[in-house]
Amino acid sequence: MADQKRFETDAIRTQIPTTAEREHSTPLYMTSSYLFESTEQARALFASEMDGNVYSRYTNPNTSEFVDKMCKLEGAEAGVATSSGMAAVFSSLAALLNQGDHILASRSLFGSTHQVLSQILSKWGITFTYADLDDTGSWESLVQKNTRLLFLETPSNPGLDLIDLEWAGRFANAHDLILVVDNCFATPYLQRPIEFGADVVLHSATKFIDGQGRAIGGVIVGQESLIKQISFFTRHSGPALSPFNAWLLSKSLETLPVRMDRHCDNAEAVARALAENGRVRRVKYPFHEDHPQESLARKQMVRGGGIVGFEPEGGFEAARTFIDRIQMLSRSANLGDTRTIVTHPASTTHSKLSDEERQAVGITSGLIRIAVGLEHVEDILADIEQALA
Ligand SMILES: *Cc1c(COP(=O)(O)O)cnc(C)c1O
Repeated sequence: MADQKRFETDAIRTQIPTTAEREHSTPLYMTSSYLFESTEQARALFASEMDGNVYSRYTNPNTSEFVDKMCKLEGAEAGVATSSGMAAVFSSLAALLNQGDHILASRSLFGSTHQVLSQILSKWGITFTYADLDDTGSWESLVQKNTRLLFLETPSNPGLDLIDLEWAGRFANAHDLILVVDNCFATPYLQRPIEFGADVVLHSATKFIDGQGRAIGGVIVGQESLIKQISFFTRHSGPALSPFNAWLLSKSLETLPVRMDRHCDNAEAVARALAENGRVRRVKYPFHEDHPQESLARKQMVRGGGIVGFEPEGGFEAARTFIDRIQMLSRSANLGDTRTIVTHPASTTHSKLSDEERQAVGITSGLIRIAVGLEHVEDILADIEQALA
């Protein structure tokens, strides 16, 4: 990484070598396999004695460009791309853990990550304990003899609660735990967990990295020795990212800084307008004064991100009415799109949890999540205001 430049430059100028065509923009390599010049070259490639593509389940030029770029942006030694964010979560855990190991995880995780911990890894005797976000003092007592890994998501989805990454880095180090951070909400433009001691950082590239609601993908970056174990697992178990999606995602990263700044501008304006609206009970945005962890957010994030949570006066019924009255914004469950999306977690993404479970992860029945997009801010605000009126 000796040739590291500034974030915006690396996001654009990290590119694989041009072909004999002298193309300016990286072409798409739709090929499943690659030619060998001789039996000796084939032998050396298979023996990993030389670098080079063999088969696109292992590596592909488009995937390599996407991964190299993500490594630079996160400040990581190595990386591997996966077919989805969940493939990134599952591959990391399955590769790094053994039967009988234990995971300590922050409560309030992405829904499918919860299913992997509770329904899938348990098949192989891998257990987990949830730790409370606002009570890090209790985490010490939750570490067991077989605890190997600390899994965190900050800011959390959809509660927008934070974990102090500097503290978490020290905690993981003191207990010899592999620290894995799902950095999907912030992206490396706003938060770089490796600088705070994370060993592995993973993403659903489907969200802000694509940023335009088009492709499913994932990526894992981190310490070389750990990534080696993970890429052995993905090579042979098969959750490869398609070359087309890798090409798309690498292109998308070129505009990540510009898009994230606009997501943040618009989200700040939405948080301010909601806080001033008499029909709103509570607003939650990491860089807003009403967020109980605002100072922590300002310490470890560059800006507050693109997601705003709020609760209208009147709870569950008022939230449903708000969502049904929305005219332009999208009623959907995704986030990190150009289009602003409104979601009611209690009746959609988190409807399978009990009231108590929802409370524990910061989801009240009236909570609405707005994944603020890139439309003109006045049009976004107008739709929100009319739906609240
Ligand atoms: C969406 C999401 C995932 C899963 O990613 P997919 O690309 O949908 O598989 C994981 N973690 C977080 C925080 C997410 O928002």
